[in-house]
Amino acid sequence: MSEFDVELREVTKHFGDVVAVDRVSLAVERGTFLTLLGPSGCGKTTTLRMIGGFEYPDSGEIYIRGVPMGRTPPYRRDTSMVFQNYALFPHMSVAENIAYGLRERKVDKATIERRVEEMLRLVELEGFGKRRPRQLSGGQQQRVALARSLVIEPTVLLLDEPLGALDLKLRKQMQLELKRIQERVGITFIYVTHDQDEALTMSDRIAVMNRGRVEQYGSAEEIFERPRTRFVADFMGAENILDAEVVQADGRSALVRVAGAQLPVRGDGLQAGQRVALVARPYRVKLLEDPAHQDALWQATVQERVYKGSSVAYLLQLATGPQLRAEVLVGAGDGHAEPGRQVGVAIDPTHVVIVRE
Ligand code: ATP
Repeated sequence: MSEFDVELREVTKHFGDVVAVDRVSLAVERGTFLTLLGPSGCGKTTTLRMIGGFEYPDSGEIYIRGVPMGRTPPYRRDTSMVFQNYALFPHMSVAENIAYGLRERKVDKATIERRVEEMLRLVELEGFGKRRPRQLSGGQQQRVALARSLVIEPTVLLLDEPLGALDLKLRKQMQLELKRIQERVGITFIYVTHDQDEALTMSDRIAVMNRGRVEQYGSAEEIFERPRTRFVADFMGAENILDAEVVQADGRSALVRVAGAQLPVRGDGLQAGQRVALVARPYRVKLLEDPAHQDALWQATVQERVYKGSSVAYLLQLATGPQLRAEVLVGAGDGHAEPGRQVGVAIDPTHVVIVRE
């Protein structure tokens, strides 16, 4: 049997002239929490719907546990889908809603009762079995929808922005809850969202999508710490993305020119003359009170200073053009200045990331 629960190979889907999904390949290992992340219209939902069999690819193939799905309809796939609007049956009790999939499969009554109780415990709704969906809060209804999808023990659970209708506080709570449930049941979850914090909180793997393509596929940490393209860095909220050009490259390291200064960086496969961008987290940017400090790469004027308790956030206007954000810990001896002051700016080159355009 395949080590992958789900595999997409070169999957493409058009709607008229629109390429919704463009040659997407992904391999999802057993028991993974995968998030498809990207802006509106990037093809996340279409990808999810194709895995569930609600749409079929124009070309390419989707495999579930190694079996090609072709045009297998949803009810014959080992997948289950949770929708944003819950789609619970209003005239049935919570227990009947959860039992539905088992009754359809002609499971015996005693087993159904036991499984429904297990599910109510899993989603922390013990004692709610007799209620109707309308007697529950939005968050509780979402848990019932989850229980109803999990009770049939699918290989893969598909979730399309399931927390979209909840307020922020409940949403945060449910994110942790979903992660806990996924770890407990050990089933592969494929989750669609446009919210990067949500993706980082829950996922083992994230596929960042842009215009129908997967721009980067990796762990939450890789996507956040080591974005490979400007789009991914930007979408993950990188504060400092500076235009740069490769001056010299020898395969493993390179020299890049950024806002008039030259910086040695690590970087596989860079080529001299290539246009790239440099990404540096604000806490990696060093503010030097003496503008002529020997470590200074640039001179800058302090534009903004915001006290944030444990740190101070600065907006620095470099003399050579772009702006940089810096975050300096309160209590750090050096590295503080008032707005209007001239300062020096440095970055530790081992802590920058070079991304492709
Ligand atoms: P959102 O977060 O807004 O749901 P998404 O990333 O899930 O966006 P999709 O819904 O997969 O994106 O849509 C991808 C592209 O395909 C969009 O340009 C969309 O307008 C188009 N599209 C999706 N479904 C259909 C359809 N049934 N008919 C025509 N075009 C469609």
